[in-house]
Amino acid sequence: MMENFDDLVTDSRLRREELLERVEETGRDEYYLGSYRVMTTSGSSGRKGLFIYDESGWSAIMAQFLRHCAMMQFRPQLPRQRVAAIVGGAPTHMSRQVAANVAVGIHNVRTLPGTLRVERLVEKLNRFGPDHMNAFPSLAVILAEEQLAGRLRISLKSMTTSSELRTPEMTDRIVEEAFGVRPFDLYANTEGLWGVECERHEGIHLFEDAALLENVDEDGCPVPPGERLLITGLYNLVQPVIRLEVSDVVALEPGPCPCGRTLVRTRAIEGRREDVLELAGRDGGAVAVHPLQFALLTRDREVREFQVVQEGESVLILVVARPSASSELQGRLREVVSRKLTELGVREPRLGGTSQEPDTFGERQTATRGRGFNHTSSPSRMTD
Ligand SMILES: [Zn+2]
Repeated sequence: MMENFDDLVTDSRLRREELLERVEETGRDEYYLGSYRVMTTSGSSGRKGLFIYDESGWSAIMAQFLRHCAMMQFRPQLPRQRVAAIVGGAPTHMSRQVAANVAVGIHNVRTLPGTLRVERLVEKLNRFGPDHMNAFPSLAVILAEEQLAGRLRISLKSMTTSSELRTPEMTDRIVEEAFGVRPFDLYANTEGLWGVECERHEGIHLFEDAALLENVDEDGCPVPPGERLLITGLYNLVQPVIRLEVSDVVALEPGPCPCGRTLVRTRAIEGRREDVLELAGRDGGAVAVHPLQFALLTRDREVREFQVVQEGESVLILVVARPSASSELQGRLREVVSRKLTELGVREPRLGGTSQEPDTFGERQTATRGRGFNHTSSPSRMTD
């Protein structure tokens, strides 16, 4: 869909390259051509997605936001409830745009970039004192540790986690030991499919009246619970999504939910599991590095995709560069990753580098490694 963006959108004035350029230049939440909202995904999955909504399409997104709040009994009230939304870094990420809209009168929303150092995040949360918090499960666990250690001191009425797999162990740590509330798992993708757990917490109810959902077999034929899920969006008329495979949602649960709602449930959101890296810190401890930190790689226009592979304390960063990429790309990436890891408190993140021959797709791969990062896995994994 990203490769054929210009052919798929229904307004010929919308051009992928121009949109990406504009997104980088303005970095602000504003309408494009007077009516379109432009959104990008964080890129932590390795590739940045571009999505566009017109006003009515965006209203449908906001309706889904309110609906998920209602399912958790988290309704607007006066004085307004304080919501801490820990979000993807870029202003064009859907979570930031939704939060900005909600902050106009519905809830008192504070967005905090998930890329902040944990100390900074704790400080900001303590000062704000949220009633509700949304965070990635991996980050929620880190914050649970902070709460248990007494550095974070917040009292939550409710909580949502999203975008990643949350294991029962993570839930226990968050609920029973740290915050005393059972988090609702929220699913919201930029393609427009939303859903949330009900009070029974037995799977995520997907809002299937806003999207057509089909479980299919390997040939794309509809089957009862299957391993692949296709979605067809029913409200985005600018960038129609028709039978798009959603890779992080799996089989639909056929049985009814004890809560009585008839919205279909998913058994599991696989998400990007177990992907927080632990690297040696300057102060001797370990530094948890969330994959979102590496999204800065896709901010470079010459990067098409990337992958971070960890084994022990070594990290190998594999990059598929655009054919037009200059020879300076590798040095530039080495510098930004190094600066970021230093900022996060990682010990001596000195990165070396090697270049690979063109791969089978005719694009260059670049492997960056160095002291503490001397893993020698084969870069060919990237092309699997
Ligand atoms: Zn239910």
